[in-house]
Amino acid sequence: MQFASLGSGSEGNATLIQSGKTLLLLDCGFSLKGLSERLKRLALTPADITAVLVTHEHADHIRGVGPLTRKYGTAAYMSAGTASAKTLGKIPHTTVIAAGEILKIGSVDIEVHSVPHDAREPTQFIFNACGRRLGVLTDLGSIPDELAQRYSDLDALLLEANHDPEMLARGSYPASLKQRVGGYWGHLSNQQSAQLIEQINVGRLQHLVLAHISQKNNSQAHVMAAFAGLPAAYHLLQLADQNTGFDWLPIT
Ligand SMILES: [Zn+2]
Ligand SMILES: [Zn+2]
Repeated sequence: MQFASLGSGSEGNATLIQSGKTLLLLDCGFSLKGLSERLKRLALTPADITAVLVTHEHADHIRGVGPLTRKYGTAAYMSAGTASAKTLGKIPHTTVIAAGEILKIGSVDIEVHSVPHDAREPTQFIFNACGRRLGVLTDLGSIPDELAQRYSDLDALLLEANHDPEMLARGSYPASLKQRVGGYWGHLSNQQSAQLIEQINVGRLQHLVLAHISQKNNSQAHVMAAFAGLPAAYHLLQLADQNTGFDWLPIT
């Protein structure tokens, strides 16, 4: 199994997970044209995608989902709440999924988890293939203990580190948005992400990629500083950025 990002942040998110002939797209926050251009960097086209999974209906995750599925007939998977969002438009081949289930697509088994985020029915996923586990965890304001336990013993983790609380507090966002981003149903701060790493078993981790990093309320230096006290994970750290995401990372 391997994974790559086509870009990550509030301007758009899209992650690829590949195992054998199965190529999964997790969210599509870019236009279909933007998606095609970004896929080209990896010598892929939208027609290569087996299925698209949608975590929730916020624009930075769905922009290209409708156009992709309508033009290419790509199978789509999302919760009933997400599917009910009018902004998605008509999605021709939707399979409704729910937290707690294990979804099988091609050679990948996918755990579906619900997360505290201010969307209708947001989900995040753990991908299992070839005896390896890749967790993706972004767009949540807090991490209940039960959820943290699910993200233990992974081989790779793509984790949100959205903001530095002081930068958010001092920044230009209106008070209501500051409250939303920093709240229980908002986004993870660098410190909350680091706390998760402290809490779970990371002995097997090959890759730890921090994602959905705010361009206004965070900086590379702040992210790195928050993880500096975690030697077991610090040397693995990589940051996903808005424009380039990151190239394939193989999970061996
Ligand atoms: Zn988002
Ligand atoms: Zn969101």
